[in-house]
Amino acid sequence: MRIGLIANRAHQDAANSALVQLFTRARLALQALDIEWVVVGRTLDAIHSHGLQTICTPYIRFPYGRDGGLMKLVAHVVNRDPDNSVDAVIYLIDPVDHSSIFPEALALKRQCVIHKKPYLSTLAGACEWLELEATAVGARHASLSEDFGFDLGGESIALIAHDALKQNMLQIAEKHFALLDQFAHRYATGTTGALLNQLAQKIKGEAAGRAWAQPFLSGPMGGDAQIAELVLDKKIRRILFLEDPHVARQHEADIQLLERAARTVTDFALVVSDADGADRWLRLLTQRNASVQSVV
Ligand code: PGA
Repeated sequence: MRIGLIANRAHQDAANSALVQLFTRARLALQALDIEWVVVGRTLDAIHSHGLQTICTPYIRFPYGRDGGLMKLVAHVVNRDPDNSVDAVIYLIDPVDHSSIFPEALALKRQCVIHKKPYLSTLAGACEWLELEATAVGARHASLSEDFGFDLGGESIALIAHDALKQNMLQIAEKHFALLDQFAHRYATGTTGALLNQLAQKIKGEAAGRAWAQPFLSGPMGGDAQIAELVLDKKIRRILFLEDPHVARQHEADIQLLERAARTVTDFALVVSDADGADRWLRLLTQRNASVQSVV
């Protein structure tokens, strides 16, 4: 698998930067996976300065951002040629870094969603994804400790879907109902929440209660911002937000605000934005937790 990697400046240089933590926290998962890295300019310099190149190997260097490295990465997300494409992107974003809202940065996420490639913009998201992919190739719950929120009974999840994707959300929720039901709390935007609660009634009957998913305001009325506050307060770690990349939305700012909140608490929160990725994520999470329980 080939992974594109870039970290904003604030996540590069410190001894405990998000970039360093990625390679240390996910070390065992990385050993289990066969990864070729495509690393953008200065991020690769930082990897060398931390002596991490022995873990981040083999790698291909892409140009510095100012020379178009991030734009090239977008092209490799959409390329069909397997020799010139990436399968996933880890982009450790500092939400106050202006380059994180350059057109190529926004296009990178959008094209990952369109081409159904994992797009991990937080440290927690990258670590969990690597951990789960490692278990998919046979590693037993590779490296992350239980502090990462795998005990779902103490965790919350946000569930949001744009109109064109509400049926996908319901299919995913039905398929992975047992896993979603384990969470202490499920939160949703208004309309998505109402649909999920109907589904829960269908599956669980009265035992589902009235608010299996606690509904906030509808997205366009500010529900995303309400959920973002819980993310910032570290009350919601996982966000499943099925975004429709093909329509212009008046509340685009609210939508991006939510993922930005996750990036603000990068070592805590994660976002999954496409339906296929969500299905795989929840399946692997179920498998991982079952394998841990069978060991205990
Ligand atoms: P909704 O909001 O669940 O109320 O439709 C989702 C959104 O559009 O952000």
